[in-house]
Amino acid sequence: MRLLLLAPPGAGKGTQGERLADRLAVRHVSAGERLRAEARAGTPVGREIAAYLDRGDLVPDAIVFDVLSPVVVAAVGDGGYILDGFPRTLPQATAAAALGARLGLTLDAAVHLYAPEAVLVRRLLARAGQGGRSDDTSAVIRHRLQLFTTTTSPLIDYYRDRGILLAVDADRPPEAVTTEILARLSDRSPIRGTT
Ligand code: AMP
Repeated sequence: MRLLLLAPPGAGKGTQGERLADRLAVRHVSAGERLRAEARAGTPVGREIAAYLDRGDLVPDAIVFDVLSPVVVAAVGDGGYILDGFPRTLPQATAAAALGARLGLTLDAAVHLYAPEAVLVRRLLARAGQGGRSDDTSAVIRHRLQLFTTTTSPLIDYYRDRGILLAVDADRPPEAVTTEILARLSDRSPIRGTT
């Protein structure tokens, strides 16, 4: 199974990515985790990435591709993957589609997790209270939500137009969300889309 998770911050992308990867026995490729690991490593590019992460800005597409391409290529070699947070911009989606044409990177579904903004903010602030991430402060959370609306949400139509969008209400307990995604994927199979 080859999935993309498309969701605003706080919708549970990371949680669902782990759960789905576990249930489907495929790799979980988290763009945010990879970028945070690079930032922690403190390399020159890592320091550049850290500045974007702390501000809640999107990391430039060229850097994202440098960091993620090897991970995505390895996941493609394994046959199945959950792409969590990549692609996140239209240029990334078209570049991933071009890479896909060469490497066999295809998507069975793009899962759009949605929830009311008040729920997203509440979850992210709760995570901040547990000593979470440097980008879980109130101002940065607002900025990340806004960037999702302006820059990432056009991907919802992009994948709907390709016939592979699966929209799922994420304002429910994690197990209910996972169960619905798996049920709807098995209803749809063997539909095969492309990036
Ligand atoms: P996430 O863990 O998905 O919430 O991502 C955390 C942060 O990583 C985002 O706020 C961005 O700064 C950066 N990021 C993650 N994925 C991407 C991407 N595909 N393109 C650009 N920046 C990204």
